[in-house]
Amino acid sequence: MTYITPETSSQSSPTETPTNSSTIPIVIVGSGLAGMVAAYEALQGGKQVVILDQENRNNLGGQAFWSLGGLFYVGSPEQKLMRVSDSYELAWRDWENSADYDDAPHDRWPKAWGQAYVQFAAGEKREYLKKLGLNVLPTIGWAERGSGDASGHGNSVPRFHLTWGTGPEVVRVFREPLERAEATGQFTWRFRHRVEGLLQDESGRVTGVRGVELAADDALPRGRASSRKAVREFQLNAASVVIATGGIGGNLAKVRASWPSDRWGPCPGDLVAGVPAHVDGSGIDVAKHAGANLVNTDRMWHYPEGMHNWDSIWPHHGIRIIPGPSSLWLDATGTRLPTNLFPGSDNLAALSHIGKTGHGYSWFLLNSTIADKEFIFSGSEQNPDLTQKTIRQLASKLGPKTHPAVQAFKDHGVDWVIADNLDELTAKMVALADDGLLDRERVTRTVADRDSQLDNPFSKDAQVNYLRTARKFLGDKIVRAAAPHKLADAKHGPLIAVRLQVLTRKTLGGLETDLSGRCLDSDGNIIPGLFACGEAAGFGGGGMHGKNALEGTFLGGCIHSGKRVGEALAKDK
Ligand SMILES: Cc1cc2nc3c(=O)[nH]c(=O)nc-3n(C[C@H](O)[C@H](O)[C@H](O)COP(=O)(O)OP(=O)(O)OC[C@H]3O[C@@H](n4cnc5c(N)ncnc54)[C@H](O)[C@@H]3O)c2cc1C
Repeated sequence: MTYITPETSSQSSPTETPTNSSTIPIVIVGSGLAGMVAAYEALQGGKQVVILDQENRNNLGGQAFWSLGGLFYVGSPEQKLMRVSDSYELAWRDWENSADYDDAPHDRWPKAWGQAYVQFAAGEKREYLKKLGLNVLPTIGWAERGSGDASGHGNSVPRFHLTWGTGPEVVRVFREPLERAEATGQFTWRFRHRVEGLLQDESGRVTGVRGVELAADDALPRGRASSRKAVREFQLNAASVVIATGGIGGNLAKVRASWPSDRWGPCPGDLVAGVPAHVDGSGIDVAKHAGANLVNTDRMWHYPEGMHNWDSIWPHHGIRIIPGPSSLWLDATGTRLPTNLFPGSDNLAALSHIGKTGHGYSWFLLNSTIADKEFIFSGSEQNPDLTQKTIRQLASKLGPKTHPAVQAFKDHGVDWVIADNLDELTAKMVALADDGLLDRERVTRTVADRDSQLDNPFSKDAQVNYLRTARKFLGDKIVRAAAPHKLADAKHGPLIAVRLQVLTRKTLGGLETDLSGRCLDSDGNIIPGLFACGEAAGFGGGGMHGKNALEGTFLGGCIHSGKRVGEALAKDK
């Protein structure tokens, strides 16, 4: 047996090496959604499975627990109920136009995975999850509407289905069967085990993992950064190893190193982290060191609409506003973003535009009516009504009241300023930014120009027209898009400005895999015994989204790639 030692690791002293081949388990590294789905499927094939994770049991489910539970379904009954006509053909057209797969060698497997994923989303995905007990709300959302070009990026129709119970519910439907298998001894979880290297035999086959056991911290609440103090080394033989360790979004140094400045301008100095610290990219490095091919690392899915969390859980904790379409979007100087870069239309185009201003942040300017109707914050803890499945609280969201999470940011958010008139608001914006960039007169004039377009049922302002179109979709009319009105109208006040930071989140590139999730080396050969799924594999293939995502495709991407890997493992002799 050859022992692979990354430069960073210390010497090994094996503590555990099962020798009887019939008891050698499948070892999955990472107890996030992808790892759990792979385990669930492998168990169906009667396999013995162990999941290792560097965090404690409180963190079970990884990022998925914190997620809003948005799922990309195509041709669903919920779409039909909302009078949305959708099909696999339309979804794949949107996906391909968004992905812009143009790098032949590195886009071969990503494209195959992208197509397989859209088929999954238009086919078995909804039924599979429903059978496990997962339900979605009937009011679907219209994320990533695109920048106004039918041949460009974006969803032609609403496809973002919200899980009733948000992220914790997505985790629950896989956690419960795993807990049942744990009780029978077929499945084991080992927490505080950080994998630092892979074991390989002379042929290159992966035969196990090695790493360190970290100091126990059972009482540390979910999401908090944990200690990396190693107490002992371990090594574990495996029939196969699955890398399901997530992306790099919590490792700001890695995000900066991967930042495509040519496309997005300089990386902002003040990034906020949209994911916990354990999303550190270490598992990807482990696989890469063993010869796995890592591709498309400059493709990431970060958001320009982040703000500092007033109630942080993890380091640099940021919260993303999932905006409705009405807020006026201004750069640091107070210049309106170009036509078609409206809130919620084209994430990376907006990120890139703001990045290229060189100022690293932007502003939403809105009023209370818009905040109450249109602001949703991404995260299960930001939506207790949905997360706790409280119908009464949810009903209150449909009324004119301010959502408690929005109220909390109004009260405590360091990036929020509120005022009764524009003069006062812009003075507060200048004070908050403290960099002398904002042109107050420009902001006042832009708001007046925009408001002048509300006196007729038609206008020359593309965003005002866009609002009117949005409200033709029932879901937007009910919960997402305020009736068009003048921003400065006191009836809709007070006025609000939110300073928006870039928030890190998803890693679109990753470990290159075939359609069963087997890792490939740089010559395209399968590395026997090594699989990858979820964000570590760019949700399949090393980047199934290509350059752009349609949203709600990340949880689904973990479920799809975890399922394919688990099915392959279940069949493995
Ligand atoms: C706030 C928030 C909202 C989101 N909302 C949505 C949404 O609405 N819809 C959607 O589709 N997606 C959403 N996402 C994205 C989605 O949740 C993630 O992309 C997905 O859950 C990633 O799952 P994963 O299993 O690949 O990785 P992770 O969840 O990151 O899990 C990886 C696990 O591996 C462990 N690990 C890492 N390295 C090692 C190592 N070396 N040794 C041992 N263990 C290791 C980590 O501790 C972690 O537990 C959201 C994410 C967040 C944070």
